[in-house]
Amino acid sequence: MAKKGDMLYAWTNDAGLLKKAECGGAVTELLKYALESKTVDAVLAVTRGVDLYDAIPALVTDPKELDKCAGSLHCGTVLMSKLVMEYAPRMSGKKIGMVVKGCDMMGLLELAKRNLVNLDNIVMIGVNCGGSVSPVAARKMIKEMFGVDPNTVTKEEIDKGQFIIEYEGGHKGISMDELEEAGYGRRSNCRRCKVKVPRQADLACGNWGVIGPKAGNATFVEVCSEKGAKLLDAAVKAKKLSTEPANPKGIEVRGKVENAMFKLGDKWRKHDFEALAPVLWDTIAKETGRCMKCLACIEHCPVCVTRADKYKQPDMMVRHGFIPADPMFHLRRFAHISDSCINCGQCEECCPCEIPLALFSHAIRTEADKVFEPKLGKSAYSN
Ligand code: FAD
Ligand code: SF4
Ligand code: SF4
Repeated sequence: MAKKGDMLYAWTNDAGLLKKAECGGAVTELLKYALESKTVDAVLAVTRGVDLYDAIPALVTDPKELDKCAGSLHCGTVLMSKLVMEYAPRMSGKKIGMVVKGCDMMGLLELAKRNLVNLDNIVMIGVNCGGSVSPVAARKMIKEMFGVDPNTVTKEEIDKGQFIIEYEGGHKGISMDELEEAGYGRRSNCRRCKVKVPRQADLACGNWGVIGPKAGNATFVEVCSEKGAKLLDAAVKAKKLSTEPANPKGIEVRGKVENAMFKLGDKWRKHDFEALAPVLWDTIAKETGRCMKCLACIEHCPVCVTRADKYKQPDMMVRHGFIPADPMFHLRRFAHISDSCINCGQCEECCPCEIPLALFSHAIRTEADKVFEPKLGKSAYSN
């Protein structure tokens, strides 16, 4: 029987799915089993849209449909947490299974603190995340650094510190360090992120630490809750999934890679925050002075639960009816969200004026956490 803290290699017994999946297909198989066994009523996963730079959410109720979601999309920047808030009022006690990266998981925890989602009704299958690349930046990087037409790329992956593409006519990999030195690579919020293994999910799944004969064909699963252990045991009992204890050397390797990623996160925080520190308010004033008040940063922030339409109503602090936005529009927004900003990057990603909003919120939160105790209590995660 699996228990919290166990570390396993897991793989699907479905040969077709194994071929399609990113690693051992454990994530897809667990979600399929959760639907088949009626542990959940629906699954919120991610699937490929028009191309591999387009990751879109998929709400699935038919287990057979889940195979279409298998595989990892590293050039998509979808965040799952706030979507659940949209479904939650209509779910009325129904259960949902979700694939969550660190930022998706943190967003759900923040929404749960605000009583907007009930975590008892959510099964969180976590996926480790070393970071994602913006779709537009990915296309540019592939063209300029790889010398390849991005439209001819058939597969992308991030493995052993390299961004690797397969395209019509060959395959090529360049180290992430080299790409990032040249100004490409992961989104800046992902570079600063230190939640690489989502241990507040029910299971944390990834490829780090799978070594030996199973390398590439099994998913490394860390059991993080009783709920996760129960689902895993039931899927094994139903012969959907096979497992074996993780290789101790593999566990060591995984720990080392995670630690190296923490150090890299610290390096990027130092780089980004130190450059900003002497000019923080001037930079915020200058950058937000371009704001056209589309409200996308509010609509997509998993921490900001005030509905965007409220911002259109007259109020005392913010003058309305012109652009760029009144500086108080952003000062009030920062005051509202920065103490619990999870650095998911959605505000920055969705801003049509390309204002580095996540950098500002993350810097403000990190600094405030250093000087004061976090207002919402010590975080269960370190972000
Ligand atoms: P599959 O059975 O193939 O299922 C994958 C699931 O991931 C599907 O349900 C799909 O809906 C979902 N998914 C795909 N793209 C996204 C996305 N962008 N956001 C949310 N969900 C998505 N593992 C590591 O050990 N180290 C890493 O550095 C690492 N980085 C990752 C970065 C990203 C952006 C993603 C999405 C995953 C990353 N992983 C990483 C996890 C790894 O790629 C596999 O997802 C994991 O090992 C599970 O493999 P599997 O075969 O069981 O998954
Ligand atoms: Fe994410 Fe931006 Fe909201 Fe922070 S402020 S939680 S980075 S959307
Ligand atoms: Fe302004 Fe950008 Fe926010 Fe839109 S997303 S309101 S342009 S800061």
